[in-house]
Amino acid sequence: MDIIILLGAPGSGKGTVSARVAEACGYRHLSTGDQLRQAVAARTAVGREAQPYILRGDLVPDAVMIRIVAEAMTAEPPERQRFLLDGFPRNIEQAGLLDAWLQEAGGRLVAVILLEAPEDVLIARLAGRRICRRCGATYHVVNIPPQREGKCDHCGGALVQRPDDNEATVSNRLAVYRRQTAALLRRYGRDTGLLRVVDSARPLGETVAEISGLMNCGAP
Ligand code: AMP
Repeated sequence: MDIIILLGAPGSGKGTVSARVAEACGYRHLSTGDQLRQAVAARTAVGREAQPYILRGDLVPDAVMIRIVAEAMTAEPPERQRFLLDGFPRNIEQAGLLDAWLQEAGGRLVAVILLEAPEDVLIARLAGRRICRRCGATYHVVNIPPQREGKCDHCGGALVQRPDDNEATVSNRLAVYRRQTAALLRRYGRDTGLLRVVDSARPLGETVAEISGLMNCGAP
């Protein structure tokens, strides 16, 4: 089992970049945010537990998160167990849980990639972000517009704003990132030497091409 971790603040482009890099490199894209939103929409027990945290912009409890990730990874047959983790781990505790789980499951961390962009870029991206209500695909009103206004290119579903992309929740999500997720950089930089920092304030294609190059996956 091979794992790539993609780190970055809300609005750094993690979801969009992960989907494209995963496709170019033959990895399964695993977004914990997408999984939680699906669980909320389906009103499962996990979804009901997670919803208030998501709406506040806080982290869902670690024990819930490692269970979701471990279940998704083991659901794949062994020959497809190459995962690009988008949004997990999000703090030091989750990184520890992931390490322990990988050791038991015989997996290894191949790379940790940090997407970096200045705060004004992050905020502009979050304010203009739209997602498909049906399939979860991500757009931006200026940077990644759909072909038909308000409609998803993939499934024709309605494009809506995420409920946690409002101003109050966004500022808490950025604070949580600075407080919790940024600490992971020291861990992965110092403890593993696997960390690569990539500028994601550029056009999407350039960011994807740089990461694909770092991973030796050729052109996206
Ligand atoms: P994202 O789509 O990655 O921006 O995640 C949206 C929200 O889901 C976050 O603000 C958290 O409330 C929750 N979430 C996603 N991933 C995690 C995680 N690894 N740990 C805790 N909460 C998470």
